[in-house]
Amino acid sequence: MSATDVITPSRLKPMPVSQPVELAPKPSLIGLTREEMAAALKEKGVADKQIKMRVSQLWNWIYVRGVSNFDDMANVSKDMREMLKTHFTIARPEIVEEQVSNDGTRKWLLRFPPRGAGRPVEIEAVYIPEEGRGTLCISSQVGCSLTCSFCHTGTQRLVRNLTAEEILSQLLLARDRLGDFPDREAPQGTIMPAEGRKVSNIVMMGMGEPLYNFDSVKTALLIASDGDGLSLSKRRITLSTSGVVPEIYRTGDEIGVMLAISLHAVRDDLRDMLVPINKKYPLKELMDACRAYPGLSNARRITFEYVMLKGVNDSLEDAKGLIQLLKGIPAKINLIPFNPWPGTNYQCSDWEQIEKFADFINSAGYASPIRTPRGRDILAACGQLKSESERMRKTERLAFEAMMIANHGED
Ligand code: SAH
Ligand code: SF4
Repeated sequence: MSATDVITPSRLKPMPVSQPVELAPKPSLIGLTREEMAAALKEKGVADKQIKMRVSQLWNWIYVRGVSNFDDMANVSKDMREMLKTHFTIARPEIVEEQVSNDGTRKWLLRFPPRGAGRPVEIEAVYIPEEGRGTLCISSQVGCSLTCSFCHTGTQRLVRNLTAEEILSQLLLARDRLGDFPDREAPQGTIMPAEGRKVSNIVMMGMGEPLYNFDSVKTALLIASDGDGLSLSKRRITLSTSGVVPEIYRTGDEIGVMLAISLHAVRDDLRDMLVPINKKYPLKELMDACRAYPGLSNARRITFEYVMLKGVNDSLEDAKGLIQLLKGIPAKINLIPFNPWPGTNYQCSDWEQIEKFADFINSAGYASPIRTPRGRDILAACGQLKSESERMRKTERLAFEAMMIANHGED
């Protein structure tokens, strides 16, 4: 996005929201691998010879047709539907609030029921439509155990990991609300063509460090990219990490989605302060993992995110260091103007400095989109979110939304 892509401040209009479906939810079939779904059906007495067929039927209804109610599964017998209803759910999370901005950006505040003895948790997902694509920002954890000094999420403790179901539910719910599943009347097996989809891209750039919740993120992303289901191309899924090196290798081997690295500094001493996981996995190890990421080419580049902090990491020396550091890696650089939050000591770099930095990078042959204007507008609008239950945590949400929106959209 260029600096001229400023979108007028969004006046958010409330939308009707769905109500909680169940108080004490049954186990969900969403987010199970095919093997897990088969085992769950077997345990409830489905005959061995039927299981494969039942799994593909359910998979189709849940992920291709997007149903959230067993009664809508027209080709499943009534007995089977009753059995499924008794033991399982495919319900969506509760929408606490849905907001639609004039520019089409949508935000959902979602509540997930307690897991075990825990409390219900709330997270947000944000949809950003653009020319030719629509990107959904998804969260992987409630809070974050890492403590990046410029990130508001980093000041909150980790409440818990989201389950694969909860990660996928963000996508299913967004597609429900955007009318992004085929009509019920469409013939069985109809798949929304990729080019017609509202959610064409997803980015794991919401709250949390996805590689500290590897197994659930992996399961969710493999289901999202399953060709017989949601069918999102892995090239349109981007996972952003602060640099959990061992899991970057695993991401390449086991998930195969696009990678974004929250770099933010090109020297270890500075990165240790900004992104403390750097003390564990310093730049050299991080860059080695990036170089080894499978399938890189000019068409499949790693995105390096770089937050612009005034007087901290925004000198032309830093820009030069950045170019040197990325030498030999097919890379894109996303410059993110810092989104301030109450209590932070950092300031966003001056616009002029950001442009100089970007020019330097451009002249070295890198595209370096600056993601600010939209993020800022939305941040202003976010003040209009006012859920009773969340009032205390409004500032947390503001920082979180700004972060997600600032980073939306990979090609
Ligand atoms: N934990 C993962 C993904 C979520 S953060 C990660 O760190 O990559 C998504 C992006 O937002 C990261 O690049 C993060 O560094 C950036 N970010 C966090 N706080 C920000 C802020 N206040 N202003 C701008 N970008 C921020
Ligand atoms: Fe966690 Fe990412 Fe924020 Fe760092 S930037 S504290 S890893 S969410």
